[in-house]
Amino acid sequence: MADSMAQVSRSRDLDKLLLRHGHLVGPNFEPGPDLRDDLREYASVLVVGAGGLGCELLKDLALSGFRNLEVIDMDRIEVSNLNRQFLFRLGDVGKPKAEVAAKRVMERVAGVNIVPHFCRIEDKELDFYNDFSIIVLGLDSIEARSYINTVACGFLGPLIPHRVRLKRHMTTWQALRPKYNSDDNPREETIKPMVDGGTEGFKGHVRVIVPGVTPCFECTIWLFPPQVKFPLCTLAETPRTAAHCIEYAHLIKWDEVHSGKTFDPDNPEHMQWVYSEAVKRAELFGIPGVTYSLTQGVVKNIIPAIASTNAIISAACALETLKIASACSKTLSNYLTYNGVEGLHTKVTEFVKDKDCLVCGPGVLMEMATLVTLREFISLLEDHPKLLLSRASVTHRGKNLYMQAPPVLEEMTRSNLDLPLFDLMDKVPKDVVHVTGTTSKSDKKASSLRKLRIVFKGVDGVTDMDTAGGA
Ligand SMILES: [Zn+2]
Repeated sequence: MADSMAQVSRSRDLDKLLLRHGHLVGPNFEPGPDLRDDLREYASVLVVGAGGLGCELLKDLALSGFRNLEVIDMDRIEVSNLNRQFLFRLGDVGKPKAEVAAKRVMERVAGVNIVPHFCRIEDKELDFYNDFSIIVLGLDSIEARSYINTVACGFLGPLIPHRVRLKRHMTTWQALRPKYNSDDNPREETIKPMVDGGTEGFKGHVRVIVPGVTPCFECTIWLFPPQVKFPLCTLAETPRTAAHCIEYAHLIKWDEVHSGKTFDPDNPEHMQWVYSEAVKRAELFGIPGVTYSLTQGVVKNIIPAIASTNAIISAACALETLKIASACSKTLSNYLTYNGVEGLHTKVTEFVKDKDCLVCGPGVLMEMATLVTLREFISLLEDHPKLLLSRASVTHRGKNLYMQAPPVLEEMTRSNLDLPLFDLMDKVPKDVVHVTGTTSKSDKKASSLRKLRIVFKGVDGVTDMDTAGGA
């Protein structure tokens, strides 16, 4: 009785979204109890990461009507996690995060089923990721995001083998056929939506990635700027903050005093020296706030994780997931930033797709005769108006077909030059190759990596659709 009462009150807010129409609903929205039941029965969501964001995400999704959840995380619980990763207790230290997080949410939310995976994201077969309706990312690493992005975008078409560690998945990728329609738009059934959250101290972001439709992670990789460094002149002449004083001691004073000795951030004596020099500097300029822990934070670039930021970002991610699954509202379009450093500031920016994106773009279409040799292919790239690529190296599904450098690889792959490209690509009628080489634009030379969609003429299995359009 108490349990069914809890169920009623639990779905009350959700029902307001799912049982009735509204002005902001998505194009395919069909309100009603069926929708709520379908969400429970058929929607399956993978949460990547069971840390600060992951714990919040699992709880939020479970309370938003999702019944089929899975979570993947390779880490074990540490004492330092306990202040914000609220599903974990002191007695859980040392246990896998994914397993404990799943268990705790299932204990508290009746009816939800969470399957934990205690492993690296790279350890799973690609089919594993293809089985989910939506993938939600609660990660703190650019590399891991990039990996999942490549996997999810890969379901749109053939493999993008730009990372060597994908190699062992090649056979699975080979089973996938290009799935672009004649306009180079991905077919709807191959789209794997992702919701990505990230936090850094009091700042955070939420983004919705619909591969092939909205910009993917790689399209906007520049959003992650290189680490901020203070200009040396500021540090040397016009320090204004405690961090400036610390960086002065760390980057300038240390070298002046310890000629040739490398600073070791893990050596407490070194850190203490930087701290006391920073204090002297701060006193000289009348700047408050230099402490030992701030010194550690600045020098090691530690950004504190803040529970409330994680809660806000996760809640927004869970809501976007619900919108995608139910169409109860149009989704975020497409990138929200949150800043709680002073007061509160949020903003949504609509980024655009990079049409030449190596991950989510279809690649430059090239039609070829089966007799064209690799050498001829490489010289075609020089004259191709969209490429103008000289001294190209060519890879196919992670295999080096020809490498211009280093000399050892050049020698190993040289004999391929006189073989037909068709043979080197295992006689598949169509596939993607990646080429790197030099492009010259108004006398400026730059190295560039391009994705090419090769279609061989007159081979069974090539349809008009494959040769229509172009990139
Ligand atoms: Zn992209």
